[in-house]
Amino acid sequence: MTIKLSNIVQAMQPSATLAMSAKAKELKAQGETVYDLSLGEPDFTTPDHICQAAFEAIKAGKTHYTVASGIPELKKAVVEEYKNRCGLEYKPTQCVVSNGAKHALHNAFFCTLNPGDEVIIPAPYWVSYAELVKLSSAIPVIVQTQESDNFKLTPEKFRAAITPKTKMLLLCSPSNPTGSMYSGEELDALADIVLEKNLMVLADEIYDRLVYGNHKFVSFPTLRDGLQDRTILVNGVSKTYAMTGWRIGWTLAPDHVAKKMASLQSQETSNPCSISQYAALAAISGDQSCVQKMLAEFAKRRDYVAQRIADIPGLSCPEMGGAFYAFFNVKEHLGRKYNGVQVDNSEQFCLTLLAQKKVATVMGSAFGTEGYARASFATSMQNLEAAFDRIAEFVQN
Ligand code: PMP
Ligand code: GLU
Repeated sequence: MTIKLSNIVQAMQPSATLAMSAKAKELKAQGETVYDLSLGEPDFTTPDHICQAAFEAIKAGKTHYTVASGIPELKKAVVEEYKNRCGLEYKPTQCVVSNGAKHALHNAFFCTLNPGDEVIIPAPYWVSYAELVKLSSAIPVIVQTQESDNFKLTPEKFRAAITPKTKMLLLCSPSNPTGSMYSGEELDALADIVLEKNLMVLADEIYDRLVYGNHKFVSFPTLRDGLQDRTILVNGVSKTYAMTGWRIGWTLAPDHVAKKMASLQSQETSNPCSISQYAALAAISGDQSCVQKMLAEFAKRRDYVAQRIADIPGLSCPEMGGAFYAFFNVKEHLGRKYNGVQVDNSEQFCLTLLAQKKVATVMGSAFGTEGYARASFATSMQNLEAAFDRIAEFVQN
């Protein structure tokens, strides 16, 4: 007998970011020098005091099950941090700590969506959103945004996408993959529609501390009364503290949602790693100068990458307000041959760039927008310099 896969997983696509990173690693394992701009993963080591807290947790025997939804100290620290930084009031019981923000997103969708519910996702969107929504039997409704609007959802486009089945709007600001950020006024205009149409909002704020120049992060529920009750916030330590491997993320949600997410987790995974939770606690409640140091380095790289893209004929990219990605337009370089290989779309562009120049990026099509490629600048300046030299050679060939 052959084991038959469920219909829902048969329709699921693997994560394109992780797939491109795996391809880059495979080439490296074959002895190639690869300039890897595929993955959104800070190249810094996790700050020492955070690692130290993990060692201490192990030595103190904090190596057993914790409450499934996370240790109370961590929930309290998350809630206090949000209050101090954004002025939002949550009770620790409204926080559910999960195995990374990706897991938090999955559980949030699973607890709030029914089969056939529609979720509006502005494209370009982070690769996992649409697949996670589908895993909850809901329907992702992709709304294409424009480079000329800095890839932001306009109130007109939002309104036009709403149907009687629309239940949720997904917001990611600063954005993966474009780095664009919504201003308070722009969010306010979307909030009008959210309230009028009685929708939920999933606000993925994982890049909220990685913001450049004059840009200012605005947390969606702070805009006015009534939004906090219909918003689920997702965040975590992966990006801010270079802690991708520790797998700690969380949601802040209305009481009844948090309670159900906690029960789901008690059946599904139990607690996230106890040691990682103590490390995350040290990250959030400890010295924040490490965040400033990493941000200063990201800011230099962001300026460098913006300049390199502007200098390469035919490439363009809107201003990056936050996060660590450049989503650059490659349309002028499609529809021709590169050393005999025909390149007509973003997937062929990125695969040929990898094959011929050993530079790994991710195709715009994986983020729902054709004609672009994403480069992560969460990698060393040296790597960026070499990678952009090769991208320039590639397109000018
Ligand atoms: N949301 C966005 C927008 C992301 O870029 C990522 C990166 N992986 C996640 C969520 C998930 O983060 P984590 O590593 O905490 O699962
Ligand atoms: N979020 C990162 C990225 O977009 C990490 C990989 C992933 O989880 O998709 O590259």
